[in-house]
Amino acid sequence: MFSATADGAATRVAVTVTAAVVSATSRAVNGIAMRLMVNFRSGAAVRPWIPPPESAVFPLPADTKIRLEGVNVDRTTARAWLATALAEARAGLAEGGIPIGAALYGPDGTLLGRGHNRRVQDGDPSTHAETAAFRAAGRQRTYRGTTMVTTLSPCWYCSGLVRQFGISRVVVGEATTFHGGHDWLAEHGVEIVLLDDVECVALMRDFIEKHPALWNEDIGD
Ligand SMILES: [Zn+2]
Repeated sequence: MFSATADGAATRVAVTVTAAVVSATSRAVNGIAMRLMVNFRSGAAVRPWIPPPESAVFPLPADTKIRLEGVNVDRTTARAWLATALAEARAGLAEGGIPIGAALYGPDGTLLGRGHNRRVQDGDPSTHAETAAFRAAGRQRTYRGTTMVTTLSPCWYCSGLVRQFGISRVVVGEATTFHGGHDWLAEHGVEIVLLDDVECVALMRDFIEKHPALWNEDIGD
């Protein structure tokens, strides 16, 4: 009913639907838990879809494009990556800046770029942690399979960046002190790993308490 091809690492499978009805035959490819992303031609948002039991048959509009993405970033990996973003946040704080850090990781786990908020240091309100990491990564042919790791839930500006460039996943250190656009990203098919990291929370809480005016300036309040 459908054809599937996996790349060398088998972390990504492209599936093209050739019939209006597709059998869900597998929940895993090469041992990697798979998530099916369905992009209906009607223009509806790409969204995660949980395969029904193996025997189930489900209807899809003809020519529907679907893709399977490997969900192989476990929380241990996510926490290791968060350490990079947290080090950036601490570096920013040491410079007298707002302690938010980020890092962009490639599909194979390579660190592509890292950075931190530089509103105070550069007098530049557009340099958020995520944009700094994004710029440090330079030009990438595609952002498919990449992961943006950030110490704090991304603001609308940075959530827009994630969607604009098709970054597949966002690891969020915490969303307690600030709840940004990560729910919106999840609704649009971006995988969100929310870690509720106590160090990230403590860092922001302490900063907001000591510098409320600077914090309100950064979030546009
Ligand atoms: Zn931002």
